[in-house]
Amino acid sequence: MQVIQMKLSNNLPSRLVLMLTIIWTSFVSANLNANNQDTILTENGLISKDTIELKEVLSTCPEKKSDYIVILDPAHGYDVRGKRSPDGRFQEWKWSREIIRLLSDKFDSLGINYAVDNDSDIEIGLKNRVRNTNKISQGYHYNRAIFISVHANAAGMGAEWLNARGFSIFTSRGQTLADVYAGIIYNEFKKTFPELKTREDYSDGDTDFEANFRVLLCRVPAVLIETMFQDNKEDVAIMLSEEFKTRYAEMIVNAVIVIISLSVP
Ligand SMILES: [Zn+2]
Repeated sequence: MQVIQMKLSNNLPSRLVLMLTIIWTSFVSANLNANNQDTILTENGLISKDTIELKEVLSTCPEKKSDYIVILDPAHGYDVRGKRSPDGRFQEWKWSREIIRLLSDKFDSLGINYAVDNDSDIEIGLKNRVRNTNKISQGYHYNRAIFISVHANAAGMGAEWLNARGFSIFTSRGQTLADVYAGIIYNEFKKTFPELKTREDYSDGDTDFEANFRVLLCRVPAVLIETMFQDNKEDVAIMLSEEFKTRYAEMIVNAVIVIISLSVP
């Protein structure tokens, strides 16, 4: 509750709107989970995924994409030490920017409003990432935006190949809309890549991990995806494949479409 209140303005009506949104979105999200995401909610009610393409969902609620913003956060910069595979083939800053390029192209083609919080290849600093995000998201209601930071995990300092593998997703501590959104992205990953390992933290009743990373404390619901491990040989081979990059970006876009379709104006 403390985190929710920190992120809210002091006025009671907005607090109530957010609380209702969390309850309602959690309810819908739980239903989606119960149905194995066979259905998605649109303005025309629940629609089976078998009968409708996700991008058609957006066309059923055009006003929703115009007043919604997706803020993308590329990981690190080339000047940050480490953050690469032991053989140097995988560079987190570069890989993250490739995924964000793919996401940008897809959002462009779908007419989804998005922004990247910085276009620098050099680390601009966590504070500046948050400042830029808060500036970009000004004018958007808390529940009409999502911040997505795209990273790759590491078990060590990058000097040697290690065994840890798998996808995980982080939100700030406490229950906010970000936890609901993280659950949707997690489910979409499981569905798209059933053969790949995922990592979960069930301690607070959901699958995401919780940490107050600086960027997760921006003014909109924020998630940080630790895609897979950059110091695991198998994970690196997968992440470097062009096929994975494309499918991974599609997976994130599909999750975002579900999130926008759930969003209450
Ligand atoms: Zn990282």
